[in-house]
Amino acid sequence: MYISEPVQILNDVFGYKSFRPLQGEIVEAVARGEDRLAIMPTGAGKSLCYQVPALARPGTALVISPLVALMQDQVRALREAGVAAAALTGATAMDERRDIWNALEQGTLDLLYVAPERATMPDFQDRIGRADLALIAIDEAHCVSEWGHDFRPDYRQLRPLCDRFPGVPRIGLTATADAMTQADIAQQLGIDADKVVVAGFDRPNITYHVRAGDSRTRQLMDFLNGRRGRAGIVYAPTRAKVDAIAAQLQAAGLNALPYHAGLDAETRSANQAAFVAGDDMIMVATVAFGMGIDKPDVRFVAHMALPKSIEAYYQETGRAGRDGAPAEAVMWWGAADIARARSQLAEGESSEERRRIDEGKLNALAAYAASAACRRIALLTYFGEPAPAPCGNCDNCLEPPTQVDVSEDAVKLLSAVYRTGQRFGLGHIADVLGGVASERASKLGHDRLGVFGLTEGKTTRDWRPVQQQLVAEDALRVDPQYGGLTLGPAARAVLKGERTVSIVPPPPGRKRRRQQGA
Ligand code: ADP
Ligand code: ZN
Repeated sequence: MYISEPVQILNDVFGYKSFRPLQGEIVEAVARGEDRLAIMPTGAGKSLCYQVPALARPGTALVISPLVALMQDQVRALREAGVAAAALTGATAMDERRDIWNALEQGTLDLLYVAPERATMPDFQDRIGRADLALIAIDEAHCVSEWGHDFRPDYRQLRPLCDRFPGVPRIGLTATADAMTQADIAQQLGIDADKVVVAGFDRPNITYHVRAGDSRTRQLMDFLNGRRGRAGIVYAPTRAKVDAIAAQLQAAGLNALPYHAGLDAETRSANQAAFVAGDDMIMVATVAFGMGIDKPDVRFVAHMALPKSIEAYYQETGRAGRDGAPAEAVMWWGAADIARARSQLAEGESSEERRRIDEGKLNALAAYAASAACRRIALLTYFGEPAPAPCGNCDNCLEPPTQVDVSEDAVKLLSAVYRTGQRFGLGHIADVLGGVASERASKLGHDRLGVFGLTEGKTTRDWRPVQQQLVAEDALRVDPQYGGLTLGPAARAVLKGERTVSIVPPPPGRKRRRQQGA
């Protein structure tokens, strides 16, 4: 039985007229006593998904949240709205602690926020076991999965906690998770797969562009020249690149500032304030920039290289167009980006399992970049949201690229890499395939290989798009230091003719340059 109707609570307590799409569905379900795992991006309104049912159901809602500062914000806001909410943290004074437990036992507390460490303490569990719980909400639910980016062992203890309260609905909430991680979170928390709800990821006002970065700084300059007077963020992969690009933009008369963790705190906050206050400021930044920045009129987000993952890409591009007005996301990338990311994975000290997951994420990102299909469909499916029709608002929808089947060339390239011992860079491989009779080739005996002279006339430049596509599909790997090519796990299927390889051919010559900047 509801104490009162969810929508009534929304109006009376929170002062909002109606639920957002799917928010209402989640609220109703949890209020009825069903479990849900809600995957919604930041700002979509996850808190109400458990706060309204907390009030609609008798008893106290137990909310597990890993961030003390966030808990305190929530409690303050709820109390201002007249809700009996409290947070139990390490900083809670003795007498307040006693008040909280009293209120809990008397059933006069609506919501109790605790950190996962506390929630898993036996003492806490004993006491909470005597309370009447309305629901258990688990915020930042991705922390329960090793596939997520922020695994916390304490979260694994939440399942047994929930299981102690059969019949009490549990609701997990998180902003970031690909479809695979979502399934894992649901399983770890004991929420049925059909109770996973993904909502609100689409950002229809953002136009996505992804381009081969063959001359990235110039491409950026062209892009910015067409957008003078607009505010935007340019993400660069390293601090040194941030500094160099910011200086270049300033020299070109653009209103640009750098932001990265190597700058002192004072400069950082001054630059951030200038960006938020200005309406034509370009922030050139590493990923250190963006968290908690409230600037609705960011008109574009540019990536000078591949970000870490699709999640990171979506979060970063999501900083554009919060006001709902048209905004752009543009990214320049190349096989070198993937090679760098792969070597970082290989050198990292993470577990085998972790590395496998990260590799999968990198492959998904590379495939997204190299794809000729609608970007929005690719992104939304990645997050597990039902795919819409082709969006008409991304590069591939607006100017459908003609694809060319290069499977034959791909086989030749992979064979040449294999026959030459998986040690040489694209330049030498192109020479061998092109039949260039160099001293090097004869010294190595490569001029006697079957692949020698297989494709006369093709140069390194011609091979590059094929290489890039093969790298994106993980059929080919590039040593980031020396450029040596080796076969990747997907090579076999290509070599056996089980898998076709297509590329979007780059338009020839100068014309291409102008288009690249658009
Ligand atoms: P999340 O936790 O998903 O990042 P929040 O719960 O903090 O998002 O909500 C983001 C903002 O949207 C808050 O200001 C919240 O009050 C507002 N909001 C949420 N749901 C609604 C609604 N149905 N109507 C109006 N505003 C809403
Ligand atoms: Zn599209």
